[in-house]
Formats: sequence, structure tokens, C-alpha cells
Amino acid sequence: MVSPTTEQRTEDAAGVLRRIFGYDAFRGFQREVIDHLVDGGDALVLMPTGGGKSLCYQIPALVRDGVAVVISPLIALMQDQVDALTAVGVRAGFLNSTQDLDARRQVERAFLDNELDLLYLAPEALGSRSTLHLLDRGAIALFAIDEAHCVAQWGHDFRPDYLALSMLHERWPKVPRIALTATATTATRAEIATRLDLTDARHFVASFDRPNIQYRIVPKREPRKQLLGLLRDEHPGDAGIVYCLSRSSVDKTADFLVANGIPALPYHAGLDAATRSTNQQRFLREDGLVMVATIAFGMGIDKPDVRFVAHLDLPKSVEGYYQETGRAGRDGLPSTAWLAYGLQDVVQQRKMIETSDGDLARRRSLAAHLDAMLALCETVRCRRAQLLEYFGEPAAGPCGNCDTCLAPPESWDGTVPAQKLLSTVYRLDRERNQRFGAGHCVDILLGKQTDKITQHGHDGLSTFGIGGELSEAEWRGVVRQLLAEGLLAVEGDYGTLALTEASAEVLGRRRTVMMRREPERPARATRSRGSAAPAAELSPAAAPLFERLRAWRAATAKEQGVPAYVIFHDATLRQIATEAPTSLAELSRISGVGENKLAKYGEGILTVLAED
Ligand code: ADP
Ligand code: ZN
Repeated sequence: MVSPTTEQRTEDAAGVLRRIFGYDAFRGFQREVIDHLVDGGDALVLMPTGGGKSLCYQIPALVRDGVAVVISPLIALMQDQVDALTAVGVRAGFLNSTQDLDARRQVERAFLDNELDLLYLAPEALGSRSTLHLLDRGAIALFAIDEAHCVAQWGHDFRPDYLALSMLHERWPKVPRIALTATATTATRAEIATRLDLTDARHFVASFDRPNIQYRIVPKREPRKQLLGLLRDEHPGDAGIVYCLSRSSVDKTADFLVANGIPALPYHAGLDAATRSTNQQRFLREDGLVMVATIAFGMGIDKPDVRFVAHLDLPKSVEGYYQETGRAGRDGLPSTAWLAYGLQDVVQQRKMIETSDGDLARRRSLAAHLDAMLALCETVRCRRAQLLEYFGEPAAGPCGNCDTCLAPPESWDGTVPAQKLLSTVYRLDRERNQRFGAGHCVDILLGKQTDKITQHGHDGLSTFGIGGELSEAEWRGVVRQLLAEGLLAVEGDYGTLALTEASAEVLGRRRTVMMRREPERPARATRSRGSAAPAAELSPAAAPLFERLRAWRAATAKEQGVPAYVIFHDATLRQIATEAPTSLAELSRISGVGENKLAKYGEGILTVLAED
């Protein structure tokens, strides 16, 4: 037998891309990965969320003989993954603990008869002898290890079962393997390569920039009201995720949004499994729902049209922030990452670290992670540049699509106010068993005669009333920034302010303190960076068409019991609305319309377009 040359195979891959998935061109290095895998090579693929990792193994699964076995920790989402593949005419199945015996037998049979293109497995399945025996009897095209960062022992998604995956190579040395992750940290990447025995594999590392996401970090005042403003002004009717630190604030925020006419659902570990699952299903299936959640929600959620991710509390690390915000805009359309951040966040997180279990090394590591996150919040530079540099990727320059680029904050010399504040803290230090938080210090500087001040005789302090040059909000900003820079600390259960070693440098005039002044008019979305996708703003003629298509899609999705995006993505509906095709041939040229969907939905769409 003559094996086909790479060129012929690439043609095949490109043909599959067009015919099955309805796309015209590969993205980034998709094609290189696919060729490498089709030729039998191992690959480690690092691409940001939304980069298009799935096609990197789905197309080789179709081009190579046998069944591709996909290892994924996301049992709850396997059905959706299989549905999405079925919708484009790919034969897929899964084996996991949620199945009854009949369903299982059916999938096993299809696997043995080579009637599947892809088989999804949970990692724990490979610990069972019967599964191994099953795999031994079938023809395996490749192994794909999804969410490969789950093998990293210090990561937050660690799954012990992933450690056993190195045996794939020993047991099936001839079967190519591809491991995929959206993890941006270099330490985790190195760990994946070692633990999965992929150091000799070819590594494909994409840029981790997400140009369609607009990063914005705003001072926290009345967070729920600010959030409501964002949703009403910029994201009416959009799907999005709101992250809160605690379960109770999740519940309160969801109630608040619902009371204000925004369809929102809660999700946190305190809810029972049935409610969690229903809420997740609804979020995936219905259009325009807002999920209010703790960080328990999100891994593997591949809903492409999440238009915003809002944080009402400060994430504990830049890694967490990047991962959570990354769930916005998988479809490449403009999306917002919005974070409200204030003094209380810094106090609370510093306190949490101080009182956390674990040894000094662990607390130091938590503090270092928090410091990097705070530096991102307080920067006067481009947020995106700082974010990318944190992950070791040099930025090309200011991005033009973050708040600091769109409305540059000023930086000002805050050394004198810093000294005033620090000396107030110093004077209160003698009474450190008392509860003197930030508010009290600011009251002293502003010369307020509060009960607490008169009771303790603090109106006699030399710093009493010397801070009239700044407003209360500005003083709180000074405290926040000093805390962020480690020039001030919080102690004890009440968040009492205390000096640090570095404070002395400021008090002794050996160090100047530059501060961030918020711009008068904060940045708002300018919809200009829709990368690969069509413009988000539709023409007056296309907008009503788009709405009709969305309604048709919602009804069709409901009828078939699948998420709306499994029918067509927003980007595809937008393009249909804009180009208004009048024949199946014209419709088939639209990105995202493959052969199967054309046959299934083509007539329906043309009918919707023809209605008036
Ligand atoms: P990841 O797993 O990397 O987060 P996905 O594989 O889910 O990303 O892909 C993100 C989105 O981009 C999906 O909706 C997918 O259909 C789409 N996509 C992937 N590759 C292409 C391509 N070559 N052309 C157009 N769209 C693509
Ligand atoms: Zn920028």
C-alpha cells in the first residue's frame, strides 16, 4: 500500500474543514498540528480558550483510520460535546458513569465495529480493566488528552487520575497522542510535558492574547449598581458570567439582577447537585442568561457566545483572572472582561492570607500571587501588555482595547499624602489592640468629629485634619494603593492598619509613591476589535433578520434538546443576516454552514429570511 503524501492528506484535512465544519481556513497553527498528528507524531498544544483546540484532534480523528479516544474530565459536558459533533455529522459517543448499561453496550459495540469517529472517556475509566480490554480490541486512531493541565499537581484543577495517563504511551506506543490546554503559565506547561511523557513531542505554543476581549478594571463603589449599569448599557440581552467570592453574595447578586429585570441564575457549591446541573444546562441552552457564580463554575464551559465576564470581587491571582475572563468571547466576537475592585478587596484578601492554614511558604506564595493581581489593578500601563508579560509573552505595545489604553489614567506623586496616612497609622500603633481600620484613619485626616474620634481623643493627634486636599474617596484610594504596594499592611480580624518595613522608606523620604488617578470618564466599549469574526454591529437591514434567526434557532434548539450554539453560532447567524442568501448554494458559502447543517436547516433558514 502506498501511503498518501502529506500534501494529499492536507487536502483531505482542508476538505473536512469545509465540508463537515463549514469553515474556509485553518486558524493559527491548527493545520500544522493536524498534519503532524495525521503523520503519527505526538503533540502538546497550548492555545488560549477559543483558539480552536478541538479541531486539532477532531480532524485527524476523521482523517486517520480508527477511533480517536478523547480523555476529558468534564463528564457533565460530554453529552453536549457529542451532540455538537452529531449535529455536523461526525459519529461520536462517550462512556462514563452517568450512563445506563444499555447505552454503554451500544457505544462499546460501535467502538469495536469501528463505527465511531470519536470516543470520549473520563480519565478514571482507564483505571478499569474492562475499559482497557475494550480499547485493546478496537482500532485507535489517536489519543487526545483534553484539559491537560489537570495533571499539574499544584494547579487548582488537579485530577489524580490524570497522573496515570502516562501509561497510554507504554501500552499503545504506536498510537499518536495530543495533549491540549489553555493554561498560560510556563511552570504548568513544563509539568504537563514531563508527567504525560511528552517532552519529545512537538510543542505548539500559540499567543495567549485574546484580542476580542476588552479588559477593564474599575474602582468599586456600589458594585451591584455598577454591574447593572454595565449590563443595561452595554450588554442588554447578552449571556455572561458574574463571579463573586462568596456563596451568599452569589445569591444576593442573582436576586438583585432578577429583581431588576435581568434573567440570572446562581451557581455555587452550596446548591444541591440537581439545581447546579439545571442552572448549568439552562445557561448553556438558553439565550441571554446571566450566570452568577463562584469560581466553582466554568471549567470546560464551551458556550461560544458568553459576551461578558464580570468580577464583583478581586480574583486571588492573575492566573485565575485570565482563566475566568477567558470564558468570554470564544467565538471571537467583541466581549468584555470587567472587574470592580476596591479597598475592601485588598483588606479582605490580605486578611484571608494571614489567617489561612498552611506554612509560611504557602502564605508567601499566596501573597505573591495576590501582589501580581494587585499590580494589574493599579497599573497605569496597558492591561493586556501587563497580563501577557506576566505569562512570559512580550507584548507588541499598547493594545488599544483595554481601559487604560482607551482612557489613560494619570499618575501623580502621592508621596506627601502617603506620609500623612502612614504617620497617622504610626500614631495609632500604640493603641494597636483597638479596631482602627482604614475608615477611622481617613476620618482623622479629614478632621471629622466622629464618636470614635472624640472617645479616643484622636482629635488631638498631630495629623488630625491635615488631609483636606483629598476627598474621602481619594483617601481610600491612597490606602488601597499603599496596601497593594505593600507599604501598609492589615492585621487581625478587624483589618487594623499597620506599618511594614517598607513604610519607613516613605516616612523617611527615601521613596516616592506614584499613584493612579482614575480618569473622569472611564472607558466604555468601543466595538472595534472583532478579530476573525464579523463586526458585532449590524446594519439596520440585518438587525431584524438576526433577531428572527435567533428566535428560529431558540425554537429549533428547544425542539431538539440541544444548546442553541450547537445549531449555529452567533457569528454564523450574523453573517447570514448580513448577506441574506437566497439559495442553498449561497447559504453553503457562509462560515459555519457545513454539509450536514445545510441539509438539516437550510430550507428552514431560507424560509425565515423570506418571511416579511
Ligand atoms: P478551544 O477548545 O481552544 O477553547 P474551540 O475548539 O472550542 O476552542 O473553538 C472555539 C470556536 O472557534 C469554536 O466555536 C469553533 O467552532 C471555532 N473555530 C475553530 N476553528 C475554526 C476555524 N478554523 N475557522 C472558524 N472557526 C473555527
Ligand atoms: Zn491596552
